[in-house]
Amino acid sequence: MNYDTKLLDSSKKSVEYAGELIRQGEVVGMPTETVYGLAANALDPEAVKKIFIAKGRPQDNPLIVHISRMEMLEGLVTEIPELAKKCAGEFWPGPLTMILPKRGIIPYTTSAGLDTVGIRMPSNKTARALIDASGVPLAAPSANLSGSPSPTKAIHVYNDMNGRIPCILDDGGCAVGVESTVIAFEGDNIRLLRPGFISVEDLKTVCENVTVDKGVTEAVAADAVVASPGMKYKHYAPKADVTIIDGSLEDYRKYCAENADKETVLMVFNESDAEGMGLKAIVYGCDSKQQAQKLFDVLRQLDELNIKKVFARCPKKTGVGLAVYNRLLRAAGFQVIKL
Ligand code: AMP
Ligand code: MG
Repeated sequence: MNYDTKLLDSSKKSVEYAGELIRQGEVVGMPTETVYGLAANALDPEAVKKIFIAKGRPQDNPLIVHISRMEMLEGLVTEIPELAKKCAGEFWPGPLTMILPKRGIIPYTTSAGLDTVGIRMPSNKTARALIDASGVPLAAPSANLSGSPSPTKAIHVYNDMNGRIPCILDDGGCAVGVESTVIAFEGDNIRLLRPGFISVEDLKTVCENVTVDKGVTEAVAADAVVASPGMKYKHYAPKADVTIIDGSLEDYRKYCAENADKETVLMVFNESDAEGMGLKAIVYGCDSKQQAQKLFDVLRQLDELNIKKVFARCPKKTGVGLAVYNRLLRAAGFQVIKL
């Protein structure tokens, strides 16, 4: 791994160049509407191994396979339940990953030894153009070094992957900002394994029974057998010691006034949340959509500013807010003060 990493635009020429690299078995930085991904040919175990190496990702954490057309799906999975077809009709292209039984063509390197595979059809135009230019489905985890926040700007990818991959396609900031919603099917039920922009409420419009996996809001032991292996890892961790303060604005301000020291930074919805407190504050957005878009960028800023201690206002836990809470919870190492 010693590449002269090129940061390219997302023009047709750049996409074709990146597609050619993927056909040669290389790994490319790819924009999507959720976060930037590290893309390689999902059907080539040698290419997929390079993703794990570039990220420093544990080998038991499976990769999501990205497709650009519905016809690609049948070649990759042995069964498409009616409910999955309904979800695809409603939410694809878009930030929803469905876990389905894999065909032999998907190597175990991609599925991390599982007999199932997560499939997603992104809506981002550059991602779709890259899949088409490569002519293969693309395995793509988030393009961060394992353990750091997912990248939502090309420069985040560059900072983590410089020298590790040949090129990155820059398509600006990610519209959604948190990784895809991951679901599995259990008969007539949908099980939510990872919350994302497609919310529980959205899923309930196609299926009455949606259950939320315990790992979404609780810590999972490192040696536990879990439905969604990614939930085991701390993930998204800034160097700062982050604590989530769950309560009203009044309670939050009171807690901070009593417990913050000179080093503490308040992570708040609006500047006014921290007004008059004489403490440094960083704003991460006043509604769930904004918070999703900004969260990972703010977590990276905490490191850049060398911040040691953070008291974060607890996001809403409904709609997209559940995804924000799930990611922030991991960034906080599950430290929550309930007021
Ligand atoms: P990332 O690539 O960083 O977005 O993470 C992908 C996540 O999707 C993994 O960490 C898993 O939690 C989940 N996932 C992918 N494939 C599967 C699968 N076959 N079964 C269950 N969960 C999966
Ligand atoms: Mg990731």
